[in-house]
Amino acid sequence: MSDCLFCKIVAGQIPSTKVYEDETVYAFRDINPMAPVHILVVPKRHISSADEVTAENSADIARIFEVIPRIAKEEGLTNGYRVITNCGADACQSVKHLHFHILGGKQLPDNMG
Ligand code: 5GP
Ligand code: ZN
Repeated sequence: MSDCLFCKIVAGQIPSTKVYEDETVYAFRDINPMAPVHILVVPKRHISSADEVTAENSADIARIFEVIPRIAKEEGLTNGYRVITNCGADACQSVKHLHFHILGGKQLPDNMG
């Protein structure tokens, strides 16, 4: 996916503030944070959205959910945090590479719109 923004970030072609990396997962700070802690966690291999998760690639997603608590702990999110993925047009997904937002560091609004 040569024209994918997050594939370019994973490849280091576009700079990012790395928070975590392993063979399958990359995490970095959101460029426009909506909370004191706002991190994006992505599979390194291109998956367009949550709607494209299959038996063939779901191990990458499982790995992401192993990594999320580790990141939360390192970021000091001891009072909780939110994990969000926007999927498709109605959810306003703006980058078509599956990503999970970790939001925390303050009391978040309970109205999800
Ligand atoms: P979405 O709306 O697709 O769920 O979220 C995309 C997120 O990617 C947004 O929160 C946006 O701020 C973030 N983002 C967009 N472009 C960049 C970028 O070049 N670098 C970083 N670090 N975040 C980005
Ligand atoms: Zn991609």
